[in-house]
Amino acid sequence: MRRPLVIANWKMHGSRSSVATLMAGLLERIDEARADIALCPGFVHLAQVVDACDGSAIAVGAQDCSHMHEGAYTGEVAPDMLVDIGCEWVLLGHSERRQYHDESDRLIAAKLAAAVEAGLQPVLCIGETQEQREDGEAFTVVARQLQGALAEQSSLAGLVIAYEPVWAIGTGLTASPEQAQEMHGYIRERLAEAGWVDAAEVRLLYGGSVKAANAASLFAQPDIDGALVGGASLDSAEFANIVAAA
Ligand code: PGA
Repeated sequence: MRRPLVIANWKMHGSRSSVATLMAGLLERIDEARADIALCPGFVHLAQVVDACDGSAIAVGAQDCSHMHEGAYTGEVAPDMLVDIGCEWVLLGHSERRQYHDESDRLIAAKLAAAVEAGLQPVLCIGETQEQREDGEAFTVVARQLQGALAEQSSLAGLVIAYEPVWAIGTGLTASPEQAQEMHGYIRERLAEAGWVDAAEVRLLYGGSVKAANAASLFAQPDIDGALVGGASLDSAEFANIVAAA
């Protein structure tokens, strides 16, 4: 049995004071027994969130990391630095990184290797754009992203995959539970065929406009093991209700 996992992606939102308010609300409302939970704030709020989560079962993750462990890489944050301040998770290959920072599958593969070596649990984000779906390329794109990130890894300990169709991110358009399940089933099949990991053990999260109102029907699908939540994770009551649906 795969334990449900719900991850909050706060993206580039928050201040010290709004983070303090959000954390107070989350700690009061979240039922930690329902699922594994991780919060991914911006880099500058990581230490604050690690402190706030101390004594709870909530884990902390970053939204990205460097492909290198240390050195002259101005502006980068090494996965080892994240481990050192108490992070356990890292999101990699988010579509906003691919889109605005031109991250390639090759770079994402290097980041994934560095993250695993440092001891972080990676969440590989994949998903097709609206145009790719309309052109009938959704499955090919997802297969290529999996291949590009996973094929040459020597270890994939703790790997989680988040399927986030780009057309559903922040748009209010969610993939239907059936559409999401179809792709999740396909991803698990690809993993099993390729043999990179134990496909039955990898947790597959859905992401893209997940809210309390649609979470239960998504989580009811056999290959959906949780969610990566953006917008709705900035509201503690809404996020707690998503966790409660897990
Ligand atoms: P959203 O974002 O829930 O706001 O659609 C999800 C994500 O990008 O991780």
